[in-house]
Amino acid sequence: MSLRGVFFPWRLFWNFFVTLVVLLNVMALLALAIASYVIDFSFYTTEPLIVLGLFFVLSLIGAFWFSYRFSKPLQRVILKALRMANKKQFGGDLEIDEILFEEPGEYFELEVALDKIRKKMKKRRLQLAHEREEFQALIGTLGDGIVTVTPDLKLRFMNAKFAAQFLGREMVAPGGDAIALSNVFREPEILELFTKTFATGEMHSKRLKLLSKMDHSFRFYSLTVSPLREERDRAMYGVLALFHDITDLKLAEQIRMEFVENASHELRTPLTSVKGFVETIKEDIGAGRTEQVPHFLGIVSKNVDRLNDLVNDMLTLSALENGSGLKKEIIFPEELSQDLIERMASLASEKQVVIHLRTEAQAFSADPGKVEQVLQNLLGNAIKYVQSKGRIEVRWEETLDAVLLKVIDNGPGIGESHLSRLFERFYRIDKSRTRDVGGTGLGLAIVKHIMQNHGGSVAVKSELGRGSEFVCIFPK
Ligand code: ADP
Repeated sequence: MSLRGVFFPWRLFWNFFVTLVVLLNVMALLALAIASYVIDFSFYTTEPLIVLGLFFVLSLIGAFWFSYRFSKPLQRVILKALRMANKKQFGGDLEIDEILFEEPGEYFELEVALDKIRKKMKKRRLQLAHEREEFQALIGTLGDGIVTVTPDLKLRFMNAKFAAQFLGREMVAPGGDAIALSNVFREPEILELFTKTFATGEMHSKRLKLLSKMDHSFRFYSLTVSPLREERDRAMYGVLALFHDITDLKLAEQIRMEFVENASHELRTPLTSVKGFVETIKEDIGAGRTEQVPHFLGIVSKNVDRLNDLVNDMLTLSALENGSGLKKEIIFPEELSQDLIERMASLASEKQVVIHLRTEAQAFSADPGKVEQVLQNLLGNAIKYVQSKGRIEVRWEETLDAVLLKVIDNGPGIGESHLSRLFERFYRIDKSRTRDVGGTGLGLAIVKHIMQNHGGSVAVKSELGRGSEFVCIFPK
């Protein structure tokens, strides 16, 4: 059966039809009754009954035609309304031409109005679909995990980031039941934050350390839970939680704090010494004792040099970290190394250390000042830490895609436990010993940053008692 048949307004049709038939026939009967009274004829003869019978048949046909004409437009309007309400079931969107039917009148007005509503709805639907698409794209690209939670603490909507970070694979089975918040988070403070938001209707936030399922590591999050309200009566229908990953921020904060702490500590030691000796010198001069003054001044001068070295290294490191640009030019490793070794010769000869240079690399492009600083720091360390009569080798090698600088010594070597932290700022193996030899604890950190700025890297191979080998890789 066609849809038009199903949705023909039969009830209206039959109401009309019966009413019309009854009305017409009652009127006919009345007319006949009046006529029999006026022109005096007998009701019970054949002619009036034939007329009445004929009239009855005609009234049936007339009422049928009239009721059909009257109900037909309504059928179109009903069909249209049904199609608007449920597009798929009732045969899709109507075409505009199909709508405007010929005869004017209230039905026509109604149909035009319906058509306007339909057009508006279509536009709104399209707009909504676009908005939904844009929202999904935005939520999908966000680096933060987002989830909405119902008042019975079940997850309703979540973005991919949230699912990746906090849901196990077994939880995201398609078509599964709504996941309970308590199945995702065991931490009571999280559940508390949600219940608090539901209870107070206000936004709450907290910093937390949570296990991320992405890399199975603990990460720091700033969790903000805000209420979601109905547009009309502002009643809460859920909450939205935003998990903002602040691990990098926290790490940077920690590194900054450690740096300030370490730097202050490093600066305070020579400063205290300078202050102490200046006071002593003042007192000695006041008391006319001058024989120790040159010795004390020597200590003050050594500590001032140390302060100077520290501040210079800190400034160098800070400039490198800020990515101060490299001034690259072609450098000749043999020449550059020979120059530096000559400048450091007195330092080496003090300790009776021999430095060998072997260059098997061609000229390459790098920042000469920075390369010199790398070599100076590594060579300086080797001279500092190697025992007297030690041997240091500076080697330049070349591979297909890189130039390697190796500084090898036969010094005390470095224990395995220190190797991974050696390039950190202010990291020292033996604090008191390195201070004695004038180290700032920043030399290797500077080397690391210079190498990174060149797109390269630095590594160390060492064993206690077996010397050390520092290898810098300059990519070509
Ligand atoms: P410092 O200025 O104290 O030498 P560095 O950053 O240059 O600081 O070095 C960090 C630490 O690494 C040093 O304190 C020292 O303990 C160790 N170190 C560096 N080079 C050598 C080396 N060639 N042999 C042994 N230990 C070394």
